Amino acid sequence: MIYNEEFETLPREALEALQLKRLKQVTERLYHNVGFYKKSFDKAGVTPASIKTLDDLKHFPFTTKQDLRDNYPFGLFAAPMSSVVRLHASSGTTGASTVVGYTQHDIAIWSELMARCYTAAGLTKNDVIHNAYGYGLFTGGLGAHYGAEKIGASVIPMSGGNTRRQITILQDFRPTAICCTPSYALNLAEQARAMDVDLHSLSVRAGIFGAEPWSENMRAEIEKAMGLTAFNIYGLSEIMGPGVAMECAEARDGMHIFEDHFLAETIDPETGEVLPPGEEGELVFTTLTKEAFPLVRFRTRDITRLIPQPCRCGRTHIRMGRVMGRSDDMLIIRGVNVFPSQIEAVLVGVEGLEPHYRLIVDREGTLDTLEIQVELSEMLFSGADEIKVLQNIERQLKKDMKDYLGITAVIKLVEPRTIERSEGKASRIIDRRVL
Ligand code: ADP
Ligand code: ZN
Repeated sequence: MIYNEEFETLPREALEALQLKRLKQVTERLYHNVGFYKKSFDKAGVTPASIKTLDDLKHFPFTTKQDLRDNYPFGLFAAPMSSVVRLHASSGTTGASTVVGYTQHDIAIWSELMARCYTAAGLTKNDVIHNAYGYGLFTGGLGAHYGAEKIGASVIPMSGGNTRRQITILQDFRPTAICCTPSYALNLAEQARAMDVDLHSLSVRAGIFGAEPWSENMRAEIEKAMGLTAFNIYGLSEIMGPGVAMECAEARDGMHIFEDHFLAETIDPETGEVLPPGEEGELVFTTLTKEAFPLVRFRTRDITRLIPQPCRCGRTHIRMGRVMGRSDDMLIIRGVNVFPSQIEAVLVGVEGLEPHYRLIVDREGTLDTLEIQVELSEMLFSGADEIKVLQNIERQLKKDMKDYLGITAVIKLVEPRTIERSEGKASRIIDRRVL
């Protein structure tokens, strides 16, 4: 199902013509309304009028998270406060938080894009959507909420936390879909088991999961535990919030970026050079229609690749692959680069282990070391005579890490329920290096 047939299936040529028109408009707006952009465009010797083709965007300077912080809180707003109707702030996972603003029109577009996401997952006004993304300054809760109302679904504004209560609501209100982070979905599944509630017997059939990296194996794990079809949704507060890109039910293979509103590039994070579509690099976004807080070439630090091949769902918008992680989260273990999500992919799904893990990074001399702590299943743990079995799992995991990722790690199997559970974005890395 497609929410906005006209724009989501626009032939490439028409789509690119629309992008070009909007790119000129947004750069004009920034050039005249935001001192920071006037300065940075002038310095780079570019003007909105110098844009002749989409390719000309590559001459424009990047906007970084640091630029946002330097202009904290409202310095980059391109609309007067009198027309700003909403403020949010990024959750500050990787440093000081950044503030974003929306006009009425921005909120309307955000709602539509979230409506597109739900529709892509097959949801309609007949659905009841349990929204466990956090409400508040974080964009997840309200973003998901407005989109659910937009398609006419019944939305349950649960927010995060209060996990027992969430299970009761799942039983009593019988929602057909749930929105939360993948790590919180695991937490919910576990709480349900503890309360002897069989999630498979409830009505939830779709899960809209995002806001943090997760692996295909984690998807399988969550689907098994919750008895639903899991969809990947991507977004970031700086660009809008949730709903920048979304998987379609037909392929569930990469997330369509809503290209009539966002222009995506991937760059080499070292050189800033634009990469050909398909190559892995840092995702960079230019917003095409935002009024209060447009950004040109915002460096997300998210590492992924664009998928230019047409999709069988009929949408013409380009897809992005899973986000491996942020460049800041990349670990370098004895010279080998690895993302926590890659470790997860190897770890999750192993018989006898729970999908709860923690990575401890430390340093011995000049070398980084990695300890992977992963929880044993209740069953394996209580069968104490199975020492051999445990040793085998440890040995196998160590070998898999070496074979698949090329890293040497210490594997430590820990007791069930000893790793902290997530209520929103999971934090799974403990960095003990004193740098
Ligand atoms: P913060 O940067 O403080 O976490 P945001 O809530 O804006 O604030 O988080 C956006 C970030 O969350 C993205 O840049 C990306 O790193 C991550 N993210 C969002 N959706 C996904 C997803 N589906 N897969 C992987 N990472 C995601
Ligand atoms: Zn598709």
